[in-house]
Amino acid sequence: MYCRKNSSGQWIIGNGNQSPVILSSAHCKSQFEAKKIAQTIDGFNIPLPEPTPGKGKIWFCMRFFLWISLALSSMLNIYYFFRYGFPSGRWWLVPHESILIDILLIAVVGVVSTAIHEFGHMVFGRSWTVSAQMLHRVISTNLNHVWAWPRIRRIEAISAGLIFDSVLLSALFAVQIIFDNAYAASAASTVCLRMVWQLGFHAIRDGRLLIVLALDKPLFFNKPSNNSEHLLSVILRLFGYATDLFMIWQWPIVLTIGLLEA
Ligand SMILES: [Zn+2]
Repeated sequence: MYCRKNSSGQWIIGNGNQSPVILSSAHCKSQFEAKKIAQTIDGFNIPLPEPTPGKGKIWFCMRFFLWISLALSSMLNIYYFFRYGFPSGRWWLVPHESILIDILLIAVVGVVSTAIHEFGHMVFGRSWTVSAQMLHRVISTNLNHVWAWPRIRRIEAISAGLIFDSVLLSALFAVQIIFDNAYAASAASTVCLRMVWQLGFHAIRDGRLLIVLALDKPLFFNKPSNNSEHLLSVILRLFGYATDLFMIWQWPIVLTIGLLEA
C-alpha cells in the first residue's frame, strides 16, 4: 500500500493493482488519516505490495535505450511521412491480393502489434497483470501502481507502449522502402492507426494517462481544480475528438475511395 500527497495537495492512495483513491487535503490532514479513510474502502482493507521501479545498471541502460529509441524512431517516422506520405487506409490494399488476405493481414498485425505494445508497458511498468476489457480496449496492462513511482518512471511506464509502436512503425517503413514491400506498408498503416488512437484525450487511452501521470493530477480531466486546468482539459478533449475525425477520414474514408478507384 502507498500513500503520497501530490502538488495540488490531494492524497493519492493505492493498494496493489487497485485503482488509486484520491482524497482532498480538506478531508484529511495527515497521511495517517488518509490511510485510515482508504482502509474503509473495499479492496483497501488488506495492505498489498506493489511493484517498485527497477534499479541498477541494467535498468539505467534499458531506460537510456528507451529514450534513444523514441528519439530515433520518431525522427525516422516523421521523415518517412514527409518523404513517402501518411500510412492511410489506402495502404491496406495490397496490390494483386484479395480483400480477404488484406483483412487477415490487418487482423494479424493488430494482434501482434498489440502484444508488442503491451510488452512495453509490462517491462517498464514491471507489471504482468493483464486484463481483457472487451468494451474499452481489447487488452491492457495494469499500471495503477505507477502512481507511487517518481514522475519520470511513471512517464516511462506509460510511454513504453507507444515507443515500442514507434520503433515497430520505423522498422515496417524501412522494410517497405528497401524491399518495396506492400505487405509492410499495410502493416505500417495498422500500427499507425493504433498509435493515433492513443492520442484520443477524450477517452481513457495512453495519451490521457500520460498527461494525468505527467502532471501528477489524477482528476485533471474529471474534476479540474481551477479555471486554467478546466480550459486545458477542454482543449485536450477537443483535440481528442479531432483525432477521432482524423482517423475516420484517413482510414475508412480513404480506404473506401481507394476501393472505388481500384
Ligand atoms: Zn498502452
